[in-house]
Amino acid sequence: VSSVISQSIQMDKLLGEVLRTISGLGVFSIDKGGIFVVEGDSMKLIAHLGHSETFLALHKGMKVGDCLCGRVAKTGEILISANSAKDSRHTIVDPDASAHGHLIVPLKTKDRVEGVLDLYMPADVEVDADKVALLRSIGDQLGIAIENARLYERTKELSLHDSLTGLWNHEEILRILKQELTRAEREHLCVGVIMADLDYFKEINDTYGHPAGDEVLRAIAARMLSSVRHYDSIGRYGGEEFMIVLPGGDENRTADIAERLRLSIGDKGVETSAGTIQVTASLGAAVSNRERGLDMKALVHAADAALYRAKNKGRNRLEFASDEKIDGSPIKK
Ligand code: GH3
Ligand code: MG
Ligand code: MG
Repeated sequence: VSSVISQSIQMDKLLGEVLRTISGLGVFSIDKGGIFVVEGDSMKLIAHLGHSETFLALHKGMKVGDCLCGRVAKTGEILISANSAKDSRHTIVDPDASAHGHLIVPLKTKDRVEGVLDLYMPADVEVDADKVALLRSIGDQLGIAIENARLYERTKELSLHDSLTGLWNHEEILRILKQELTRAEREHLCVGVIMADLDYFKEINDTYGHPAGDEVLRAIAARMLSSVRHYDSIGRYGGEEFMIVLPGGDENRTADIAERLRLSIGDKGVETSAGTIQVTASLGAAVSNRERGLDMKALVHAADAALYRAKNKGRNRLEFASDEKIDGSPIKK
């Protein structure tokens, strides 16, 4: 079990492997089991073995304190229940399951219960103390492993996102764009790219202060997120400049979303602690496909050049890099 724990840092993979390993040890006669992870007051069944769809559905909204496993999450104590049919604490009942015993182990760190290991046993079987002691020590190791896996997930999240706005950061939005261009080439699709830069943002900072400027950036990010589809991606490309990647975005769709973004930003002022602040954005858009070419640098350059034109033509507007290949040469008609 230790060696399995040390092989993975990814939560679902780790717990799945651990559960399979414990059930395969031959020490316990287990044909069913699960590992719950505690998240706030919720219990999430991350790994399971032998459970029916009905069982999984019954445990979807499970809370700390519910049934036997929730009780262990709450108390942090091992619980042995010899027969589910006779134990009144066993409150989530799967109508398809026959009577069984439970051996439930808290997965703990020093400070908290990170999860629960639930092993099924035949009904009314006695569990000897050695096995319980063994499981207790596995539980302590697994608790630390879950804590590490959480930390890893959190660190990974942080490393991909911009901390002020929560949008993808510069590196990640470019990685997403690259990935979408590769997919577009394979599947003969278009990719739309929009560069959006807030207008006269320096003035906003100068007038209302940098913290208010930050509030505006956060609010604008939220507005933009609610103006795109869930498979579109938005990154903070630089200070007050954003990149939006639209998989499958042809000219019409890209123009449509760019216009929606422009309106969502400039339509009404942003309420901040320094008062209501009106801000607009200039946008440059470019669409890439096989005909235009799928080179990432050229595409970003084309969108950037269009943005520059939007600024020069008076700001708060959209310019499109159309009628030319993304490397600037005309398309042969
Ligand atoms: P333009 O319309 O030409 O884009 O004018 P602008 O003032 O927006 O452009 P400029 O590039 O001169 O200034 C960008 C400003 O954005 C300057 C910088 O202080 C501000 N900025 C960049 N990042 C942040 C940030 O994280 N928070 C705040 N409050 N301001 C930022
Ligand atoms: Mg600007
Ligand atoms: Mg800028």
